[in-house]
Amino acid sequence: MKRLVVLGGGESGVGTALLGKAKGCDVFVSDKGIIKDKYKQVLIHNEIEFEDGVHSEDRILNADIVMKSPGIPNQVDLIQRLIKKGVPVVSEIEFAAKFTNATLVGITGSNGKTTTATLTHHLLKQELNVGLAGNIGDSFAKQILEHDYKNYVLEISSFQLDDIIDFKPHIAVLTNITPDHLDRYEYQFEKYIASKFRIVENQTKEDYFIYDGDDEVILDWLEKHPVQAILLPFSLTKTFGNGAYLDNENIKITIDNNQIIMPTKNLALEGKHNIKNAMAASTVAHLLKIRKQTIRESLENFQGVEHRLENVLKINKVQYINDSKATNVNATYFALETMDAPTVWIVGGVDKGNNYQELFQFVNEKVKAIICLGTDNKKLMDNFGGMVDIIIETEFMSEAVKIAYKVAEAGDSVLLSPACASFDLFENYEDRGRQFKDAVRNL
Ligand code: ADP
Repeated sequence: MKRLVVLGGGESGVGTALLGKAKGCDVFVSDKGIIKDKYKQVLIHNEIEFEDGVHSEDRILNADIVMKSPGIPNQVDLIQRLIKKGVPVVSEIEFAAKFTNATLVGITGSNGKTTTATLTHHLLKQELNVGLAGNIGDSFAKQILEHDYKNYVLEISSFQLDDIIDFKPHIAVLTNITPDHLDRYEYQFEKYIASKFRIVENQTKEDYFIYDGDDEVILDWLEKHPVQAILLPFSLTKTFGNGAYLDNENIKITIDNNQIIMPTKNLALEGKHNIKNAMAASTVAHLLKIRKQTIRESLENFQGVEHRLENVLKINKVQYINDSKATNVNATYFALETMDAPTVWIVGGVDKGNNYQELFQFVNEKVKAIICLGTDNKKLMDNFGGMVDIIIETEFMSEAVKIAYKVAEAGDSVLLSPACASFDLFENYEDRGRQFKDAVRNL
């Protein structure tokens, strides 16, 4: 019997443990932190051995295979020792994919993964039996065990890709690449790019690679590292034989001379970045033979994803928008680009080595007031201080929203798009977004 050790007792770890046990492995789950009660109950109920608060190293080093939660960096001593000993250390997608024959759509990128994965799932589920997994919702491994869908849309982070061996999606999507999470890549952008591109490394000539054909980082890399899969780029500015492009107000998607056309004017999601996300999702749907009419209707009735340019409320003709998931400058760039009203902008949090220069033009054109919401607002004050009449600091969401309410006039928008991580003042970006929405509703 194979000894499977699962490091990390969260959603992906517990899912993997269940699948491993069902497939006959001897499973041990070890988490150095505290395993949540709901997961402990599942492990106990399924008679899976586990520990938390500690790693029993001897037992872990004795594994035949280790599945590691994406939160654990490879630099950790225990992982290094496993690797040195020759024990395969894999991610959930690597482990679980071996137990399904489903068609896999793998979606990665610096921004837009969740939006594109959720939208793709929405398009496909109208006509196909399809699960949504990866970094989102229920664990992929658990879904294989419980549903065994015929197709999966997988949202895949670079951390998951770092620990693959044979994993390959039949359709890979790369939304874009901008610097993020560089602390896990020795502060080398090249290493982060290489990690993202692992999504195509096991693909063959029968597989497809859908990517942003406007993204210079992606194009440069592709020039130096040709891939096996059939290329399907999407673009707002260029045209392609095969792929998706914008022709006036229409998205045109061509695959082997078979073209579909979709108007952009009724898309549920706003902003240029969302036209790109719609292009990527629709290209997947077209590949998987979803009817044109279905794609069109589904693009129009998609509900959007919480905390991504989410319209919260209109009060006194001022629109309040929650974009708490904008945890880097590039995401905020697209939020500001999307604004067509004078904007009161709430920004700040934990800076990731941000370069704010690319926002200057939009701030000059569209932003009338800035509210810096973080424990350290100095860099924001230095960058934007001279650019707007009103720039105010606070450490409280409720106060930030009250200031915004006072400053905004009929026809304006109040946008929370922090361009920073959230853990100085909040548990995570969801907590930040919820606090924003609560504060708005309490006005
Ligand atoms: P991810 O899962 O990659 O973090 P999300 O879909 O959750 O991506 O979106 C994260 C942030 O990036 C949100 O603020 C969203 O509005 C913005 N965003 C969404 N799609 C894109 C895109 N294609 N390019 C840039 N920013 C995007």
